[in-house]
Amino acid sequence: MFDMVIVGAGMAGAVLAERFASAGKKILMIERRRHVAGNCYDEIDANGILIHKYGPHLFHTDDAQIWEYLSRFTDWQIYHHRVKAVIDGKPVPIPFNLNTLHEVFPKSLADKLEAALLKNFEYGKKIPILELKKSADADLQFLADFVYEKIFLHYTEKQWGLAPENISGAVTARVPIFVGRDDRYFNDRFQAMPKRGYTHLVENMLDNKNIKLLLNTDFQEVMKLDDGEIFLFGKSFEGRLIYTGQLDELFGKKFGTLPYRSVDMKFETVDAEIFQAAPTVNYPNNYDFTRITEFKQIHPVKSSRTTILKEYPQEYVAGVNEPYYPIFTDEARAAYEKYSAELADFKNITAVGRLAEYRYYDIDDVIKRALSLVRSEEVGVRSLKTCSL
Ligand code: UDP
Repeated sequence: MFDMVIVGAGMAGAVLAERFASAGKKILMIERRRHVAGNCYDEIDANGILIHKYGPHLFHTDDAQIWEYLSRFTDWQIYHHRVKAVIDGKPVPIPFNLNTLHEVFPKSLADKLEAALLKNFEYGKKIPILELKKSADADLQFLADFVYEKIFLHYTEKQWGLAPENISGAVTARVPIFVGRDDRYFNDRFQAMPKRGYTHLVENMLDNKNIKLLLNTDFQEVMKLDDGEIFLFGKSFEGRLIYTGQLDELFGKKFGTLPYRSVDMKFETVDAEIFQAAPTVNYPNNYDFTRITEFKQIHPVKSSRTTILKEYPQEYVAGVNEPYYPIFTDEARAAYEKYSAELADFKNITAVGRLAEYRYYDIDDVIKRALSLVRSEEVGVRSLKTCSL
């Protein structure tokens, strides 16, 4: 009856379901939560403000194909994300850039540091903080130490519960020093929010007669893996399984639990038109939360109140909170490799997405990965050639 089962209705699952269903495949989609869109899920709250229930998701990409693809399912509201970090009580733009220099240092010092940056790096370059720390130039060394201490170190410890040296470069490179004056958090060519939100976007993708969606259903309720074989509703399933959940769960955690970092998302209503100086303000050095996001500044709406979100990082505990970020320790990588090897026993299972591939994918990365998977399988999918993607 079904050609394919897709576990998880987040971005990875939605793109694959949409592509394969449009090519005529019959898809059964199984989602544990009561809603689609995974961690991109958004909804209008009691204040009439569109909030991101699982933390701020800002869409940005340099890839015109991804932009074009998503544009089939949504209109856009142009949006360029801006973040400030509170340094010594003052919110200043991050990524730390040439404007930030002049906001935190007296003019003579800021000019000197700016000259040192421009002498050593090309204008427009992003330099990971740990790379700048290795600089031989005394002025740059001073700047690197300052940014490391004021923006990076304590935020990172809070966010990950680990010292920065135990965290993968893929994470630490995400917050660079920017040799330029662009205050935007991202510099990509396409930056926007789906006009009616991500949930609406994903619902549009899944609105296809070839997709049967089962919400509120754990995959273990309907399927089982046994000796290289998949059983669906108790019968052997010869079709394809695309799995976007946690890989350890697919194999009953037989090689141990893959560690994730979770976040306690605490929403608050504030009786004010606007609460803070930027859509997101980071608090590297004080408080137990890492950042506050004000959704009205992302999705503008008239309201005398505003909704803010404080993010309190915490340990992930299965069944208690949500797995948000894979923690890339050597031990975790080794366990992931074992699960990956186990996957190889099944010719018809593919693991895709942030959870299943244990990667810190951005939204556009996930979409790119899903689309390239579809492309690589053109042979098996009737009429996919009629699709441009
Ligand atoms: N980071 C930091 N200080 C900040 C913001 C980020 O040290 O003010 C570090 C921290 O380790 C964080 C990583 O950079 O986990 C990635 O930040 P990003 O804003 O990309 O995180 P996300 O939005 O994915 O949580």
